[in-house]
Amino acid sequence: MKILVINGGSSSFKCWFGDFPSDRPLWSAHLGAIEAELEPALKSLLAEHPKIDAVGHRIVHGGPRYRESTPLTPEVRAAIAQQVEFAPVHNRFELEAVRTVDRVIGGDVLQIAVFDTGFHSTLEPAAFVYPGPYSWLEDGVRRYGFHGINHQYCAGRAAAMLQRDPASLKLIICHLGNGASLCAVRGGKSVDTTMGFTPLEGLMMGTRSGSLDPGILVYLIRHRGYTAEQLDRILNKESGLLGVSGISGDMRNITEAMVAGNPRAKLAFDVYTHRLLREIGGMLAVLGGVDAIVFTAGVGENSVPLRQMVCDRLAFLGLKIDATQNAQPKLDQDIATPDSKVRVLIIRANEEWQIAKECHRLVSGA
Ligand code: ADP
Repeated sequence: MKILVINGGSSSFKCWFGDFPSDRPLWSAHLGAIEAELEPALKSLLAEHPKIDAVGHRIVHGGPRYRESTPLTPEVRAAIAQQVEFAPVHNRFELEAVRTVDRVIGGDVLQIAVFDTGFHSTLEPAAFVYPGPYSWLEDGVRRYGFHGINHQYCAGRAAAMLQRDPASLKLIICHLGNGASLCAVRGGKSVDTTMGFTPLEGLMMGTRSGSLDPGILVYLIRHRGYTAEQLDRILNKESGLLGVSGISGDMRNITEAMVAGNPRAKLAFDVYTHRLLREIGGMLAVLGGVDAIVFTAGVGENSVPLRQMVCDRLAFLGLKIDATQNAQPKLDQDIATPDSKVRVLIIRANEEWQIAKECHRLVSGA
């Protein structure tokens, strides 16, 4: 089945075209500006590969109504447009991509929405209800969780790598990219995750704060005159590694500066790893143990010192990694020593293939 996947972010788009179930792309493109670049890219794809069976789109937030992958009917499109309150930047870009496909490939091709919140639809109320007034829940204010497409991909890949039945596995998946979240997976299902109502909750990230004392926000509004727009910008764009270090939101720059002796870079790294460990500890308790910890996405796949630090601190679990394998990771590798009681997997993030898999499942009715 020939499937085109459009994986949009707030600032760039990854396009993948392949013959599912092969994960090898027949064509791919990484686009900076969607308005200017998507249309010519799709035209050149069509020139090479005129037969496209389905187009899958990553949609960050489907709001309370849409979690399950679904064809992009006029009703679904309208609903996503109405969810811009939940994810203003993302949903607008994603709908633009859907309309571009209509224009270039034609209105007849089946387009499918795959939601980043979908994998977390298995959370129990205890994990998704916020302890505010009950009316919040009725208003759609609850934990949705994000990065679900890659968390689901990693859960499947981990089971295959370990040659274990997913039903018998407890996993903690650390998706550490520009955005970062943990997912606790039991029996192949998401049971908890650190991101919440928005992708701002949980771990410290490149430029996002992650969880804070909500009293800080009340203080800033009341005594420092901050507006919603200012807080939104500060918490999303000027916090995290960048905010603490004053240097960069990119873990590579933080590690370099730390090695060069910069104390604020070291502080940023220490806060990042401290918070990561603390949340891993929370997921351990939720799962009642863990078979494997997965590192994925830019930081998770590439940061040798981060993995070493986290794994050293988890030695009390009987977890031990091979330092040589950690330093020269092959992707999709188990870096735990043979006698380690917990496996440690590095898995290359692959949202595109997971979206293609969802499209295939919907089309074939499997
Ligand atoms: P996104 O969340 O936007 O999809 P990625 O998963 O590609 O992002 O992660 C991007 C981040 O990965 C970069 O901002 C950078 O901090 C981090 N990264 C990439 N390579 C390395 C590396 N060699 N060492 C440490 N961090 C890295």
